[in-house]
Amino acid sequence: MTLANREKKIVLTGDRPTGPLHLGHYVGSLQNRVEMQDRHECFIMIADTQAMSDYFEKPELVARSVREVFKDYIAVGISPKKSTIFVQSKVPELFELTSYYMNLVTVARLERNPTVKSEIQQKGFESSVPAGFLCYPVSQASDITAFKASIVPVGEDQLPLLEITNEIVRRFNRMYGEGVLVEAQALLGKVDRLVGIDGKAKASKSMNNAIFLSDSPEIIREKVFSMYTDPNHIQVSDPGRIEGNVVFAYLDAFFEDKEELQSMKKRYEKGGLGDVTLKSLLNEILQKLLSPIRERRQSIEEEKEILEILKAGTERAREIARKTTEQVREAIGIQYWA
Ligand code: ATP
Ligand code: MG
Repeated sequence: MTLANREKKIVLTGDRPTGPLHLGHYVGSLQNRVEMQDRHECFIMIADTQAMSDYFEKPELVARSVREVFKDYIAVGISPKKSTIFVQSKVPELFELTSYYMNLVTVARLERNPTVKSEIQQKGFESSVPAGFLCYPVSQASDITAFKASIVPVGEDQLPLLEITNEIVRRFNRMYGEGVLVEAQALLGKVDRLVGIDGKAKASKSMNNAIFLSDSPEIIREKVFSMYTDPNHIQVSDPGRIEGNVVFAYLDAFFEDKEELQSMKKRYEKGGLGDVTLKSLLNEILQKLLSPIRERRQSIEEEKEILEILKAGTERAREIARKTTEQVREAIGIQYWA
């Protein structure tokens, strides 16, 4: 066995196709995926069934976004030759696993989960949470364990969900025996939670407060110049605040010259550095980052090609999920025949 083989781990990540991907995804997990695909066995799932759990009234948005997300993947440098990109709904074994795992977690545990709790609030589901939404962390456990993934590149909001996965794995192992399911570890990105352009805690699709990877140069500029800085920083000479300043949060995430950034922060705090200068710099950095991504995205217009790649990836993923599901049935003792 070569060293490279020995180091190989199984990685599972994915996104819900509910719109195009944004800079939060980029720093939260996309960068890690691109970096890992040369060293590990990577599975990238387009979680359309999970997306249905809060967009069941807009299935056309989910269907359309499958292609958008795929294009974003290719645009950032994920290669279907290295990573297996697949569509969740076409791997029915995942839903069989979910059925078994549902018995290994309580409703109270799901309701208490901080991520689920805040999403229920954000979506206004408090009085009537759809069962499907409440149970989506269980379906995530299926996705991760079906591939026996030990690494899951995600943003910080996913940590409580991964805990549920590992609790299910431990419960399964105690009850039905070890050897089939493995626990997984989160791999956080360079920035584990990028703030929204409106200053809210997290840039997200549903809050429409993100810069999308497919945004035009004009929109990027507009979004950067709309960013919240410090309301008391009116004149260039006024002292300004760094804390809570969205432009600095983005410079922290995307400006590579940390020394220069440090000295800019000092100047800003003292007074003498204007918001327009800051925003122009951030705009320039983001344009440089996103321009090749946008170009690569535009080069994949062929609908047929997209579906063929997705189909091949899904077949490969299904083969693996099928094997794990058989092992799960055997462990439980309900594999009546092979
Ligand atoms: P929604 O608003 O519909 O929940 P989203 O923008 O939060 O969408 P998700 O599909 O929920 O995106 O997240 C996909 C992955 O990207 C997850 O691993 C999540 O942690 C990560 N992610 C999303 N937004 C950010 C962000 N602002 N910073 C870091 N990681 C993020
Ligand atoms: Mg989210």
